[in-house]
Amino acid sequence: MSQCEAITSQGKRCKREALDNGYCFVPAHQKMAGTETNELPTLKSETKPWSTEDNPWVKDNMRLKGKHVGFRPRWIAATEVEKRHPWQVADKRNYGYKVETGEDTVLRRNELVLCEITEQLAKQREEYQKSKSMSAMQEARRIQLSAAEKKESMMKEKFENR
Ligand SMILES: [Zn+2]
Repeated sequence: MSQCEAITSQGKRCKREALDNGYCFVPAHQKMAGTETNELPTLKSETKPWSTEDNPWVKDNMRLKGKHVGFRPRWIAATEVEKRHPWQVADKRNYGYKVETGEDTVLRRNELVLCEITEQLAKQREEYQKSKSMSAMQEARRIQLSAAEKKESMMKEKFENR
């Protein structure tokens, strides 16, 4: 069996087993089937036409000077920031950058803006995502089971009506 082709929002390959079209049963991943515009990790798609793989400078450029303890950072497309609640634009001073007079506190790279959420919120969201994919799995199993039961009762009926 092959692995689902979908790339998750964390930029990792989905670990579930793929169906015939190369994607797992998760509806969002099924939607990706048949389209060429699979959701790529933000970093990759936002740094076009450069490739982060063969350009180490880009990678370094995206790396942060310091850590904001208790917060999880993420680069988000400047045009998307407003829609990405609860991610908030980070204050670059919290990540070890100086702010000159007259300069704002936003850290920018290409078209990206550094955002953050609290570590606590990040963990909550991870738990939520985990439970969501668990219930999707349970739902898929339930549908499978009820289909099997239907088939069985149909076979039984056929047999009894003979
Ligand atoms: Zn998947």
